[in-house]
Amino acid sequence: MAPAAKQPGTRRIAAVTGGNRGIGLEVCRQLGQRGYRVILTCRDESLGSKARDQLRGQGLDVEFAPLDVSDPQSIARFADHAKQACGRLDVLINNAGVSLDGFNAKVVQQTLAVNFQGALEVTSRLLPLLGAGGRIVMVSSGMGEISCLSPALRQVFMDPGLDREGLERLIRDFARAVESQEHSEAGWPSSAYRVSKVALNALTRVLSAELREAGILVNAVCPGWVRTGMGGKSAIRSAKKGAETIVWAATELPEGATGQFFRDKQAIPW
Ligand code: NAP
Repeated sequence: MAPAAKQPGTRRIAAVTGGNRGIGLEVCRQLGQRGYRVILTCRDESLGSKARDQLRGQGLDVEFAPLDVSDPQSIARFADHAKQACGRLDVLINNAGVSLDGFNAKVVQQTLAVNFQGALEVTSRLLPLLGAGGRIVMVSSGMGEISCLSPALRQVFMDPGLDREGLERLIRDFARAVESQEHSEAGWPSSAYRVSKVALNALTRVLSAELREAGILVNAVCPGWVRTGMGGKSAIRSAKKGAETIVWAATELPEGATGQFFRDKQAIPW
């Protein structure tokens, strides 16, 4: 389906996944402070309502809608809601993520379902609401640098001809290799999180190429090491600092800046 055209002169609208806490909550706050109408989404209704009320108490235009990015039905319900309630979106921030303990087939499946497949499904379902000038930001990580793969796998991931199907096939290969305990020989690291972010970065490149002509920018951002539930108390950055480059990529990047990976508002290598 063709992306919807944006109505000029209306308040910009952003949807953020995993918005109830951590970096996602701070992204919602900063977008609200920039005058956006923000749809804060998360899987737990009471946590989402509490986060919405906190931001509304600061005078921001924020609403809450439930969204579990690992559940296709939840994504479909959210897409219907966003279409009915707003008619369009200007910004989508794929922020929801998990970093689970251990390394086995179940951890791999659960991690990829949120960090990679979740971002892919959410973006695909919301794409019809994003028009020219729309911006999609993938919240990635330096842990997803391509250097964690074998040289052969690096080549496959960086192939400009890689498409969505090829990428999904690669990710299924990884999951199968973990199940058969052959992932190291095949060139994969023993980290579901790393591979999920390598895949999210590849998805950023694939989607940016697909959507370039439609005028939709797709970029990835590493927030740095941030004090959140995931980053822990020793992390060196505040959530405010971690959110800054994400919000910048969603609101300030010039036309045509797409398919890049940023940290501290600077392009970094994949
Ligand atoms: P966090 O405090 O643990 O927050 C993670 C968020 O993701 C929570 O809102 C969580 O919701 C949500 N989430 C998890 N599974 C979900 C699902 N199935 N559907 C919808 N939401 C789901 O972590 P954070 O540090 O803010 O992380 C945000 C993003 O930054 C992640 O993508 C992470 O990989 C990335 N990142 C973080 C750091 C860091 O140092 N913190 C560094 C690099 C990248 P619940 O409350 O329901 O669990």
